[in-house]
Amino acid sequence: MIRHHPDDALLLALASATLARGPAVVVIAHAERCPRCRERLRQLDVVGGALLEAAEPVLLAPDALTRTLARLEDVETASKTASAASPTAAQARFRASLPEGMAWPRCLGDSVPDGWRWLGPGMRWSRLTLRAAPEANVFLLRIAAGKSLPAHTHAGIELTQVLHGVFDDGRKRLDAGDFDETDGSIRHQPVVQPGGECICLASVEGRVVFEGAVARALGALVGM
Ligand SMILES: [Zn+2]
Repeated sequence: MIRHHPDDALLLALASATLARGPAVVVIAHAERCPRCRERLRQLDVVGGALLEAAEPVLLAPDALTRTLARLEDVETASKTASAASPTAAQARFRASLPEGMAWPRCLGDSVPDGWRWLGPGMRWSRLTLRAAPEANVFLLRIAAGKSLPAHTHAGIELTQVLHGVFDDGRKRLDAGDFDETDGSIRHQPVVQPGGECICLASVEGRVVFEGAVARALGALVGM
């Protein structure tokens, strides 16, 4: 059961097409598997549409919301088969490396993962290049059962959608399907629960600030 959702500010930013592509893709990945947030987006669409007419130039293309909602409608009606676009060989190999039964977000269908890289014992990560926004800082984290990320804070906003497994960062427990938003006011150390690995989709606007020399070196290594 999904217990943690994007707040209205994020959903409204998505609905009014003012959310940058990186954060947007994480929120959409959540909405794909959350009926409650899809319903909320429909409600906010009315507000967002009105805002859009009065808004400053937006980050997304004017028809981005239409396409977003169409894609979400599609998720509701379509069976859970693979995305319509056939994946490249590299994408297919990458998806084959994912745990059995893990649903790959449809909104990531045309993204290009660059493969799993070592981040620390039991920890791997992969950058995801969004075709529509290659500059977006979006990545996957894959952490083995019982392992934890180094403690860190953020110089910006970090959005996380749990795709598989469970982790607990001392503030709350996040299951597959749950969404989390953290900023500079939050120092946390996500710990993956025993029993299975955890895979998260994340976007970071600004830097992740790791604590301690080794952790800082890791941060520099992955450019976070
Ligand atoms: Zn939700």
